[in-house]
Amino acid sequence: MAEDDLPKPEPKEIDSRLAMELQHLCEDALLRGFPSGSERCDNCLYYLNPDDKLAYCWHPKLRILVGADWWCQWWETNEES
Ligand code: SF4
Repeated sequence: MAEDDLPKPEPKEIDSRLAMELQHLCEDALLRGFPSGSERCDNCLYYLNPDDKLAYCWHPKLRILVGADWWCQWWETNEES
């Protein structure tokens, strides 16, 4: 079967549901795909692997993958004071 004969992939119901849930999550967290000054996910306490460009955020209200340059209102320094 030629590639042109294959049906075009389309999002399923679960994709719409998850997209809406994640959108609400992002709005609650004021999650942004860019840093806030010097505050970025990769220098936040909750960013699991600071050397990675994409990593798990273990903040209890998020628990999602986020980008190193992203930011949210729950940013917290990972430096010990
Ligand atoms: S708490 Fe916010 S700033 Fe910190 S890693 Fe998670 S999404 Fe990024």
